[in-house]
Amino acid sequence: MNCLFCKIINREIPAKIVYEDDAVLAFEDVNPQAPLHILVIPKKHIATSLEVTEDDHVLIGKLLQAASDLAREKGVAERGFRTVINCNRDAGQTVFHMHLHLLAGRPMNWPPG
Ligand code: AMP
Ligand code: ZN
Repeated sequence: MNCLFCKIINREIPAKIVYEDDAVLAFEDVNPQAPLHILVIPKKHIATSLEVTEDDHVLIGKLLQAASDLAREKGVAERGFRTVINCNRDAGQTVFHMHLHLLAGRPMNWPPG
């Protein structure tokens, strides 16, 4: 499959990996939008959050917990952080392997742009 993030999972493309287990991989975003910008992805290829099914409920929980664990580990948990999952065009999704953005290290605007 010609998927950029599957290639990162398979080590066909390099990335700065910060966390890995049997279900989840996390790596630094190549074009960071905040001092801390990590992408947390399922190892299972899921194109968008629209494709999440009942089989994925535990997996989605693992994504969120990995993001929280990383926020604690990176020292941003108390100050705060933002988690984002973009879906399709209006949200600006560019990579069609679902991913959770972990953004921190600066105040975040609301509403988001
Ligand atoms: P999205 O716009 O939600 O689809 O997010 C895709 C993200 O992937 C963007 O923030 C990109 O900067 C990031 N990205 C694209 N290619 C790579 C790569 N090779 N390594 C790390 N992050 C990447
Ligand atoms: Zn993929």
